[in-house]
Amino acid sequence: MLIDTHAHIFLEQFQSDFDQVLERANGVGVGHILLPAIDVASIESCIHLAESHRDPGTGPVLHAMAGIHPSAVQEATDVDMQRVREFAAHPAVLAIGETGLDYYWDRSFDDKQHAFLREHIRLAAKVDKPLVFHDREASEDLVRIVAEEKARSAYPERIRGVFHCFGGPDAHTELVLDLGFHMGIGGTLTFKNGGVPENTSTVPMDRIILETDAPYLTPAPHRGKRNEPAYVRLVAEKLAEVRGLSVEEVEAVTTANAATLFGLELV
Ligand SMILES: [Zn+2]
Repeated sequence: MLIDTHAHIFLEQFQSDFDQVLERANGVGVGHILLPAIDVASIESCIHLAESHRDPGTGPVLHAMAGIHPSAVQEATDVDMQRVREFAAHPAVLAIGETGLDYYWDRSFDDKQHAFLREHIRLAAKVDKPLVFHDREASEDLVRIVAEEKARSAYPERIRGVFHCFGGPDAHTELVLDLGFHMGIGGTLTFKNGGVPENTSTVPMDRIILETDAPYLTPAPHRGKRNEPAYVRLVAEKLAEVRGLSVEEVEAVTTANAATLFGLELV
């Protein structure tokens, strides 16, 4: 069984063929799909989908997250953060995310991004659920803030999770490993000249989980088209190739890692 630990299939890009998307995922052995929220409205969509897809006998089991994406933080209010705290306790919500930092699109609200990131980390420690981090050109600050929050937390061991769409660079890899976090590997692994196989070559297999980030970052040979959870198998195949492992080995290890990190029952 494979697990897609990061797929935004609640977005409108999947509205017209949602059931077929799940069928194709089921067809290649995807047993669980985790849905990272972007804003308060999408937390509700994720929970609704998770509650209506809980039976492994009928296809992939869906799981919700609660969080505000760093790029959505600009519009977010304290009331929104309060809603995230309320949703965080919901049984269908198994992680806090996605949160993190994005310096690529807009540097005009860095302070607000930092403040919301810290709120998400404290919330994750409080409810004892893993964090899902988005990091775009912000590795240094993200790693520093996580380390600071761990140092000041009454529950540092609860501050765990994944740096999703991990691609290096090497210097950052060591810091993420030191923090005890996992790395989410997705379609960028298949990009020619993307540097991801090299940048992630020192990451031990027991820290890797697989993801698609659907509908974005579509792996080869489907680049340019919409990404979807079934393509997580292409990521597994590429990882097997660059590590000299069998696809079955990659599947077994990454699925066990994800199940442990997110507390998933594998049936
Ligand atoms: Zn995402």
